[in-house]
Amino acid sequence: MIGNRIHQARKSAGLSLRNLGEQAGISAMAISKYENNKSTPSSTVMLSLARALGVRIEYFFRVSQVELKKVEYRKHSRLPKKVLNQIEGDAIDQIERYLELEEFLPVNPIELFKLPAGLPELIENYDEIEVVSAKIRQAWQLGNNPIHDLIDTLEERGIKVLRSNALHGEKFDGLAAQVNGTPIIVVGRDWPGDRQRFTLAHELGHLALAGRLAEHLDEEKAANRFAGAFLVPASEVVKKLGYHRQWLEPAELCVLKAAYGLSMQGWLYRAIDMGVISQSVFRNMWRMFVAKGWKKTEPGNPYAPENPKLFRQMVFHAYAEELINESKAAELLGKSLSEFRSIRNVELCVPQATDQ
Ligand SMILES: [Zn+2]
Repeated sequence: MIGNRIHQARKSAGLSLRNLGEQAGISAMAISKYENNKSTPSSTVMLSLARALGVRIEYFFRVSQVELKKVEYRKHSRLPKKVLNQIEGDAIDQIERYLELEEFLPVNPIELFKLPAGLPELIENYDEIEVVSAKIRQAWQLGNNPIHDLIDTLEERGIKVLRSNALHGEKFDGLAAQVNGTPIIVVGRDWPGDRQRFTLAHELGHLALAGRLAEHLDEEKAANRFAGAFLVPASEVVKKLGYHRQWLEPAELCVLKAAYGLSMQGWLYRAIDMGVISQSVFRNMWRMFVAKGWKKTEPGNPYAPENPKLFRQMVFHAYAEELINESKAAELLGKSLSEFRSIRNVELCVPQATDQ
């Protein structure tokens, strides 16, 4: 059993047997034996392994409730195996910690994910996607305002969001998977916030639209339309931009991006989808974005990445009610005892700097 855990932690760290051996000062052969449960590491060896793998020693003893086999990525063709392994390891670790915490809580604040009733059964054109998004916003009582914390919003509704270091750069899209029936969305930890949010809303779109799209509609285009609509509802687009415009000032889009966490390019799409600008205005503006290099990097301050708070808050809740002890709380947060104590010290509580 410990063998499987070592294997899982190694895969998730993206290390070969040899790499790990070098870092822990143990032979690759010995590690292979531990992983295959052919021999049992001493406690000193386990400490070195834990240190090299960046996990706490408890990790090796945790009973896994998550079935690895059920992790299925919808679109993974472009991701190298090593990155997939790392993400899979991260996902399983994070979900295990959630499941463990949930067991300690008398009332689980997290619902099982389910779509609201009454969504249209067949969607025959892209405009009808606005209705799906509006119904979900309504059922989730989000009103029409900007969604402040999209990660927490989704997590409260039973979607697990994983931020992974393994997804970096421009190269990869987000990933969606299911583990034990729970939808998971993976975004890059270091992505700009507007990219994280668009990916989250796009993947929510896939979940919401699955099985409803008429055959002639493109799934990706539909999920993008959903994402835009979910981040900025139709009524808000018109309220902010007006009914008809001949041109949109980039500085105007920049302000709206900061308010809604939708990229300037995302706003351009919202403007054309809602008929606020014509095809030719859109084309001209798009050309300007390309010419100025804004298609890749938008001007102005980047939108800050999101910092999920729900899990951490639940851990402190359980700790306050003495449902878990200090060492369990630290373990669930993936921190050492002294790190845990310093997080507990509210004088150091800087909400934007917290990171689970
Ligand atoms: Zn997609």
